[in-house]
Amino acid sequence: MAKKLVIDEELCEGCETCVSLCPDVFEMTSDAKARVKSNDACDSCNCQEAIDSCPVGAIKWE
Ligand code: SF4
Repeated sequence: MAKKLVIDEELCEGCETCVSLCPDVFEMTSDAKARVKSNDACDSCNCQEAIDSCPVGAIKWE
């Protein structure tokens, strides 16, 4: 089964680091939380960098 990126919106503090690193995968919501807009894009981009760069560890593989 394919891995799926998930963001814990309780932890997310809206710094936008993940969006700037991986704009095809993450986007900001209107309440300043990040969300995953496309898991498909992760096969060819560098999502691990976004995971490692999140200051609150809110991004995980599931
Ligand atoms: S890097 Fe982490 S805290 Fe920053 S917007 Fe993304 S999920 Fe939220």
